[in-house]
Amino acid sequence: MMPTIEEIAVKTIVSIEIEKPLKEAIQKMASSNHRNIVVIENSNNHKTFYLLTISDLIEYKLCNINEDVLLKELKLEKAKVLSKDLNILNVLNEVDSTDKYMVIVENHELIGILSYSDIINNIDPKILMKKQTIGALILQYKATTTYENTSTIQAIRLMKDNNSDSIIIIDDNHKAIGIFTTKDFINLIHVNANLNTPINKYMTSPVNTLCEYSTISEAIDFIRDKHFKRIVVTNENDEITGILTQKELLRIIYNKWIDFIKEEGNRISKMNEELLSKATQLEEKASFDFLTKLYNRRKFNSFLEYEISKANRYKDQHLSLLLVDIDYFKNVNDTYGHLVGDNILQEVSKILTICSRDTDIVARWGGEEFVLMLPQTNVEQAFLVGEKLRATIEKHKFDDVKHITCSIGVSQFHKNEDKDILFKRVDAALYKAKNSGRNRVEMEQISE
Ligand code: GH3
Ligand code: MG
Ligand code: MG
Repeated sequence: MMPTIEEIAVKTIVSIEIEKPLKEAIQKMASSNHRNIVVIENSNNHKTFYLLTISDLIEYKLCNINEDVLLKELKLEKAKVLSKDLNILNVLNEVDSTDKYMVIVENHELIGILSYSDIINNIDPKILMKKQTIGALILQYKATTTYENTSTIQAIRLMKDNNSDSIIIIDDNHKAIGIFTTKDFINLIHVNANLNTPINKYMTSPVNTLCEYSTISEAIDFIRDKHFKRIVVTNENDEITGILTQKELLRIIYNKWIDFIKEEGNRISKMNEELLSKATQLEEKASFDFLTKLYNRRKFNSFLEYEISKANRYKDQHLSLLLVDIDYFKNVNDTYGHLVGDNILQEVSKILTICSRDTDIVARWGGEEFVLMLPQTNVEQAFLVGEKLRATIEKHKFDDVKHITCSIGVSQFHKNEDKDILFKRVDAALYKAKNSGRNRVEMEQISE
């Protein structure tokens, strides 16, 4: 379960009213060591929140804006306001890639502020990130670099032009000797430092770097342990290959998460499809006879039980059975071989299907025996159907064998009787047909 943003938000917020001067905001930011300050505008019981960030301060400095100006006269960015119950992933969907902070508000009161940094410390991507090295990512994230005698104001301008919040100071061999960040900048303007001084006077030195062969999870540990906002990445010769900010790292991790979730989702839905099709195949296997494609005995029984339950429940629901057995079929096999026998079974199956109604159920009972269930049909009507089937088979011209005949027993279901009793009667009827010379249809005998 992802944490909610309220759980991870920073609750020590520096804020100031919009009527106050810029100078006071800088003072507050410097003394609290915050990179941003929430500016609150109160109007008619309604609060609007703005954010004053270090990059705004750079802008004002470069444009020579007087620090006595009131905050309300500046064009401040409205802060993104979020409800406290959102989880981290929801927020990542909502927030774009700019370096903005989000304020969390409950009942119009400010309760927290959230940055990408807070989010990164709350996602544990280690498992996913163990194998990927930062070197593979760094290509996209070029560092802003300059030499140590560049003037501070020039360095700041470079940072702004490159849209980066840090600049690496390098020597002639491209080795990092110092770093200067927007956070250093705020302290400079606070003490009104001379910005024409070379940057090496204000830079932090030495620079902590991480080799490009480090994994993303190592990079995250690095950021966590050192409380850094960025990683200066070097190659094995200690030359700078790029810079990776916390925010970028987070974006990569987030994308990996999404890929991972998508992949898993696809895998699961594919598995479901396969299972479903396997289940359908199994169901078919379990219901149909392979040779004749008719229903098998198992499926026939389930249809029969259903029809019997209807016949038991409702009035005048006649239900009849036909048991069909090919005459002297053993001779066919013995004379022409099993393959010819199989063809005949298939042909007979077709005839039985064609000559019966759609609502009748035709099944292979086993061997050269077939069974038909005729709903809404009494034994006299079923007898006529049996006659028709018998006559059609007798007349049919089969390959090789030319002519075959069959014997048929007919019976009708009686309310509340056992299924086996019904079968006993139809079996007896078939037996009678065989004994009376075959190629005949016989009706059941009801013993009173
Ligand atoms: P009757 O007229 O008394 O029914 O004689 P019959 O020869 O048809 O009966 P019997 O029960 O003696 O023999 C049935 C034959 O059906 C035996 C068996 O080889 C054959 N048979 C059963 N299933 C298949 C099958 O799937 N394919 C083939 N080719 N023959 C089968
Ligand atoms: Mg038989
Ligand atoms: Mg037979």
